[in-house]
Amino acid sequence: MEDAVRNPLFRKMEEISPGFYEIQLAKSRIPINLPTSLGVAVLSYAKEALLDFQNYLDRLIDRDHKQNLMIDTDCLYFSAASDNLEDLVQPHLRREYYDSIYGHCSSLPVTAGQNGVSYFPRRCCQEHELLDKSSPLFFKLENKSDSMICLNPKSVITRAVGPTTTYKYSCKGIQRDRLDMATIWDRYLSVLKTAKPEIVENITFRSFGNKVYTYAQKRVGLSHSYWKRKIGPDLINTTPLEF
Ligand SMILES: [Zn+2]
Repeated sequence: MEDAVRNPLFRKMEEISPGFYEIQLAKSRIPINLPTSLGVAVLSYAKEALLDFQNYLDRLIDRDHKQNLMIDTDCLYFSAASDNLEDLVQPHLRREYYDSIYGHCSSLPVTAGQNGVSYFPRRCCQEHELLDKSSPLFFKLENKSDSMICLNPKSVITRAVGPTTTYKYSCKGIQRDRLDMATIWDRYLSVLKTAKPEIVENITFRSFGNKVYTYAQKRVGLSHSYWKRKIGPDLINTTPLEF
């Protein structure tokens, strides 16, 4: 253990049980052999595409009838004043909207958001619908639910109430099999309302010598922290960061 602490790469140590420690070391070698510029370009294009889609939605639907809930690299969740998105299209844009969805049934290639084509997949025929659904820049319906809690882009949950209530969730840093479906919604809700992070226990095993050790660690699971926007005094609504 002393050797480990003297190692210049030593970063952190935690005692799991008497005489048994988890040690975090920095990497001794970091090969930089990936074309990261490619990744940055893909990410930037994704954000630009989302911004275009957001601006399109903003024009199509009155702001009184929708509110953004969460935007991540490739998805946008918003609450809407109607079950049916088409009911929300502003009356003076309905003709343009229907034309963008049904009026481009041609074998020529189309690009989302250009030459009167919508960001939603065309619905003129099955062939074009399937083609657009697998084409970049078109936005597909991923999830439709009754309510949603967004703590941060990696910790969100949606709830669709029906004969059986279904949840769809992401929870970075928590082992999924340790989440109990009966209480999962209330756990997200409690973090949202109180801003108190939830501490979870993750169980892992490590082999050391000729033995296998199981160890449990307490970690911050669901967290209220959100660094991309400013959280308001109600702990729920957010405003842009000021630079
Ligand atoms: Zn078609």
